[in-house]
Amino acid sequence: MAKISINLATGSLQQEEIIVGIDLGTTNSLVAFINPDKKPQVINDTGKGLLVPSVVYFNAKGDALVGNEAKEFLITDPANTIFSVKRLLGRSYKDVAGHQDTFSYKIIDDENDSLVKIKVGDKFYTPIELSAEILKELKARAEHALKTPVNRAVITVPAYFNDSQRQATRDAGKLAGLDVLRIVNEPTAASLAYGLGLDPNQQKTIAVYDLGGGTFDVSILSIQNGIFEVLSTNGNTFLGGDDFDRSIVHYWIEKNKLDAAVLAQDSGLMQSLRLKAEEAKKALSSQNLFNEQIGDIWCTLDKQTFEQLIAPKVAETLNSCKQALTDSKLTAAEIDEVVLVGGSTRTPYVKAQVAEFFGRYPHDQINPDEVVALGAAIQADILAGNRSDILLLDVTPLSLGIETMGGLMDVIIPRNAKVPTKAGRQYTTSIDGQVNMKISVFQGERDLVQENRKLAEFDLKGIPAMPAGLPKVDINFMLNADGILTVQAIELRSGVKQEIDITPSYGLTDDTVEKMLIDSITHAKSDVEQRMLIEARSEGEQLVYTAERFIEKHGSFLTAAEIADTGTHIKALKAALAKAEKDEILKKADELNEFTRPFAERVMDVAVSSAMKGKSIDK
Ligand code: AMP
Repeated sequence: MAKISINLATGSLQQEEIIVGIDLGTTNSLVAFINPDKKPQVINDTGKGLLVPSVVYFNAKGDALVGNEAKEFLITDPANTIFSVKRLLGRSYKDVAGHQDTFSYKIIDDENDSLVKIKVGDKFYTPIELSAEILKELKARAEHALKTPVNRAVITVPAYFNDSQRQATRDAGKLAGLDVLRIVNEPTAASLAYGLGLDPNQQKTIAVYDLGGGTFDVSILSIQNGIFEVLSTNGNTFLGGDDFDRSIVHYWIEKNKLDAAVLAQDSGLMQSLRLKAEEAKKALSSQNLFNEQIGDIWCTLDKQTFEQLIAPKVAETLNSCKQALTDSKLTAAEIDEVVLVGGSTRTPYVKAQVAEFFGRYPHDQINPDEVVALGAAIQADILAGNRSDILLLDVTPLSLGIETMGGLMDVIIPRNAKVPTKAGRQYTTSIDGQVNMKISVFQGERDLVQENRKLAEFDLKGIPAMPAGLPKVDINFMLNADGILTVQAIELRSGVKQEIDITPSYGLTDDTVEKMLIDSITHAKSDVEQRMLIEARSEGEQLVYTAERFIEKHGSFLTAAEIADTGTHIKALKAALAKAEKDEILKKADELNEFTRPFAERVMDVAVSSAMKGKSIDK
């Protein structure tokens, strides 16, 4: 398939544009490129360093600061400083509800399955917008350091990211003005950085052990003919080097017999202890004893004690490795290579334990903080067609998806996916008793289907009448090696099914593809803004519908005043919907939700509460 480079200023084809690789991390992000010596290199914007802390701060005017400058506000202004946004990307409130305490900023509880939003001051931000701020900063740094526009990127995500999290990452890239050529798994990128998978004749099984500051995951990959397949993943998204620091702090508190009540009052002291603990941990990666003081508190730690302190956490990671092996039906002896990723794998005890577990010494020569970004740069270089030794596999030139609420394009198979491929997603109805669902298949990169190419349309008929939100309609796309797309829709509760075959490439010329790509880049920002407004609107409309139905059905559980006040909130939301102001709609929807939450709890009507859930397609 054609590899297209576009000069944004002129719209002409261009061969030498740099494509960067981006590691969009939970704690830190970084960007790499292939230097003129054909070696991957992390971009170091003078004076700013390699790592960009994944932190966004909003000042009183609502302007965003990103990176080290933003990090300082974590302590002085935590409510307006967003960190770890990657944990929220593509997630609903339900997904993160148990962990609300770990975030110092406000996450909106809208009681449904739609994606989370974060409230900063009077404004609502999606994790996509916040991640886009981080990506914009990375783009700007790359442009500054390389002295050339950077418009195309490969972005990495954890292997366990689901479809919605991957799509959110793509959207963030788009909003930052980047054409995201591919979303690559972090363990795949790390393997590529070590040259694994670059030889098309190589067949290998790889374990990638990634222990960062706050998260741990292990992936078992197989490579065959240059194609990576994730066999299994395991891990704990709340386990990492921060836990090592905490164990050290507890140890010092006990050793110095510090009073818990005093410490609870003195957050400054706790913070100093935590920072000192991290310092000790890092020092013990290259020496045997750490011995310092904070005032009259002795902060002493020897390597052996440190290893005893962290042993239970490390054992937990090895349990995950065991589980990952079981899931991939392999034994440790069948793993050919082990790759280390993440700052915490610098701890010699971690390395030794991993080596012992897999029975081989892991790859650790590349800086574990940089290895993913470096691999992403290699993947970018492969996609740019700069490596003649590597076979470029057939890929889909344009995204394939279906129309959802408000005329939005929901991508099912993203552009540049390797062929053959299959992907699917689940949908539901938006109206009570809906028995037909129209499925319209589109091709293209724009957020509104009307700007894309329509490929086909069919009706899934005979869905049994159920309350909105209850039917489960799986839509599956299968694109075979000959480029034929089979779209299948099946309602899982009743088994009603419909299927069609389409040839997406029919009538598609290189010129059309090129034009569609250029259009998607020039319109990226307004497209994403429009998408967010439509999403807010659909959510708002759905909420009005649900709230009105709720009053109709369960008014008897409420007082007259409660009904009247609910009516006022509904009216306010309707007025905001009429004005088509995204933030206003979200604000009023939030207020209506907050107001009616106790009523729903009072009634506990399963059918109605499930009608509030689910993504829906207009019939
Ligand atoms: P990451 O999330 O991959 O950036 O990893 C950050 C984690 O690595 C933090 O917990 C750091 O304290 C830890 N780390 C960084 N350098 C070292 C080191 N030399 N030894 C042990 N841990 C380290």
